[in-house]
Amino acid sequence: MAPPQRILFPPEKICMDWQQRQKAGAGLYNVDNTCFLNSVLQCLTYTPPLANYLLSHEHSDSCRQQGFCMMCIMEAHVNDALSTSACAIQPRDVINALPRIGGHFMLGMQEDAHDFLCCTVTAMQRACLAGSSAWDISSQYTTIVHQTFGGFLRSRVMCCSCKAVSDSCEAFLDVPLDIEAASSVTASLEDFVKPERLAGENSFQCSRCDEMVTALKRFTIDRAPRVLTLCLKRFDFYGKKIGKFVQYPQYLDLRPYLSQGAAEPLLYALYAVLVHSGGSSQAGHYFCYTKASDGLWYQMDDTLVDRCDINTVLAQQAYLLFYVRCSDLQISQQISSSPRGSYARSFLNQWGTSSQQTGPVGPRDQPRWTKNLAKELIRIVQDTIIVTKQYKKFLQMMMAKLRKEACVLGLIHPSHSWGCVTLSA
Ligand SMILES: [Zn+2]
Ligand SMILES: [Zn+2]
Repeated sequence: MAPPQRILFPPEKICMDWQQRQKAGAGLYNVDNTCFLNSVLQCLTYTPPLANYLLSHEHSDSCRQQGFCMMCIMEAHVNDALSTSACAIQPRDVINALPRIGGHFMLGMQEDAHDFLCCTVTAMQRACLAGSSAWDISSQYTTIVHQTFGGFLRSRVMCCSCKAVSDSCEAFLDVPLDIEAASSVTASLEDFVKPERLAGENSFQCSRCDEMVTALKRFTIDRAPRVLTLCLKRFDFYGKKIGKFVQYPQYLDLRPYLSQGAAEPLLYALYAVLVHSGGSSQAGHYFCYTKASDGLWYQMDDTLVDRCDINTVLAQQAYLLFYVRCSDLQISQQISSSPRGSYARSFLNQWGTSSQQTGPVGPRDQPRWTKNLAKELIRIVQDTIIVTKQYKKFLQMMMAKLRKEACVLGLIHPSHSWGCVTLSA
């Protein structure tokens, strides 16, 4: 794809970590079957890079749009939902804008939450392009909205006779997953990237062989989004539902599904799950689970906002899954929130995660503290299933500081390696 003529939003300004910490905001009143809208709004409200941007008021400060602007509406809604002291608010402006978000939406009807999400994100994207619709297509992909939710899929067709490949690239805002044959999201993603054989009446016209040939077609994620939205295809053409449970992880590694092999995992953390309960797309109820900026999970069911635990979140009949790409900070938080992480937590409180900082890791008069931190780190490593390169880097940094401190305290000799240290209590 040609390079963009203009960067509409500088990627370095996108904040992946919450810029403020607070418990979950308000619930939303259900006005005439609007649970589909409420649950989507709640998932968007707790999307860190989008919420950080909307909370900064940067959009409305410079918006010159007359009349309907989905970004202004979302900015007002997110600010309202996160700052109000009320238990619940009415997303009136979003409801009023429903016909502008999608011409086919009718107030009072049970609409499809995924459809509403697509239309809302597209309307936000249009708002970001307002006044600059003449930009080349590559520039259009540099809005805050596309840089948050957007990725690129590569479709590669390889001729089985001459091995020539032809690639095409396509932008996406979410990834639809077939779940009929899959019992888990990772199995479905594996199916998604599995080469498909094009033969018989589906044969491929190879330009090099200059004839119809058997070919292999394969989709891969060419550029991974910052926020990955997965839609589990629960509804068939007639709205009939596949109600089975499909397992999904709290942390998802996208590396196996990328076009380019990567040296390290590309880790995503689950932050919202949208659930449909009921037998068909025209009936039933939508609600969701979101992770607020305080790092805690909440069930959000219209006006109800209730704390819940991750096990509940992972046990749902999910329809939409929202994952955010992990930053180094999130990975270190994952470590420090480990139930066994009390020493690591106090390490982080004192010294943060910056490797620039130097100094003792704990109180100088407490060799035991240092020893316990070392023991704890080893336990956390044993406990943790996902070890990323960043995670390793972080642990190495902590270990290096710890080692220095242990030398100062005379617990080990500088020439000793860690292997020589007996960590007895
Ligand atoms: Zn606006
Ligand atoms: Zn060929």
